Amino acid sequence: MAAIWAVGEVAEGRPTRLTLELATLARQLADASGSTAAVVLVGHDVTTAAAEVATYGPVVLAVATPDDDRPAAARTAALLADLLEERSPDVVLIGASSDGKDIAGALVGLTDLPILVNASSVSWADGGPRVEMSTFGGRLVTQSAFVGTRGIVLVRPASVTAEAAATSGAVETVEVDAGARLGAVRVTGHTEQAGSAVPIEEARIIVGGGRGVGSPEGFAIIEDLADALGGAVGATRAVVDAGWIGYGQQIGQTGKIVKPALYVACGISGAIQHKVGVQTAGTIVAINRDPDAPIAEFADLLVVGDLFEVVPRLAAAVRARKAASG
Ligand SMILES: Cc1cc2nc3c(=O)[nH]c(=O)nc-3n(C[C@H](O)[C@H](O)[C@H](O)COP(=O)(O)OP(=O)(O)OC[C@H]3O[C@@H](n4cnc5c(N)ncnc54)[C@H](O)[C@@H]3O)c2cc1C
Repeated sequence: MAAIWAVGEVAEGRPTRLTLELATLARQLADASGSTAAVVLVGHDVTTAAAEVATYGPVVLAVATPDDDRPAAARTAALLADLLEERSPDVVLIGASSDGKDIAGALVGLTDLPILVNASSVSWADGGPRVEMSTFGGRLVTQSAFVGTRGIVLVRPASVTAEAAATSGAVETVEVDAGARLGAVRVTGHTEQAGSAVPIEEARIIVGGGRGVGSPEGFAIIEDLADALGGAVGATRAVVDAGWIGYGQQIGQTGKIVKPALYVACGISGAIQHKVGVQTAGTIVAINRDPDAPIAEFADLLVVGDLFEVVPRLAAAVRARKAASG
């Protein structure tokens, strides 16, 4: 019987949203193939996170590491390689986060399993996963399958909506010989990236700034609107390349794929490489002085105007509405 595994990530004791998406996907693929689903969580204390992931259905394999709460990708991959050898799951889903990409790359080297990357959708067909990938900046969608029965799939964020299951899965604590595999690399510290209180991959509301913002200082009004809305700040590659804001905020083909409920795009033209990063947002509001900007084609609402006039007024209106509603 096939087994579908997902590799989860824990941040500050909680599973990331991508982890819950993978748990949902593993469950759906297991249902479709009549097999079992499991999520592997690796970390110093993953007890709380494991209980939460279990509510999404799969069995959770909680692997406790001795000292780090967020072990380096190389260590996680080494541990996973041992587990894969021992239990031989057929499909291993890994999220396309920064760590996930590192883990997947190392795992391919350690296990010789084949890999399909950049998956925007995974279904079950002909006895294996059928993986859709978006290429050429979203202009072309390909479908791929493994030649054999086993493989790793690197899944983009927001490819599936996380949904809790009717029945929770069990949590199994997995003991590992930590010394043997974990010695090589040790995380000595973490530096949180400046920019947003909430990472943009997790944010329900994102206010994005593009070249229309004009300068690094111009981002002050973008940050202010994000603050008023309780959201995070995103950006285009043009402004990241210009050094106006950090790479961690970049949305798009070579940045992050996000799925907020609301995306407010300010001074952003809507190039295809940006669009692919945000096209699954619930509602897209664009503020642009050009009524013919490409973003008009996929925004739900286009406000034609100067963002330096519109954005501060919008922030003030949001705050006034919040104050009025107590
Ligand atoms: C291989 C490759 C990968 C790429 N990856 C990415 C990626 O991941 N993410 C990404 O974003 N881009 C990516 N790009 C770049 C992409 O093609 C665009 O160049 C970029 O998205 C444009 O950024 P922008 O919208 O900020 O700038 P522009 O295209 O210059 O648009 C600025 C917009 O601001 C408006 N504007 C100007 N002033 C004001 C004002 N005062 N008020 C209101 N509106 C105003 C203008 O009308 C215009 O529409 C990639 C490109 C390539 C070739």
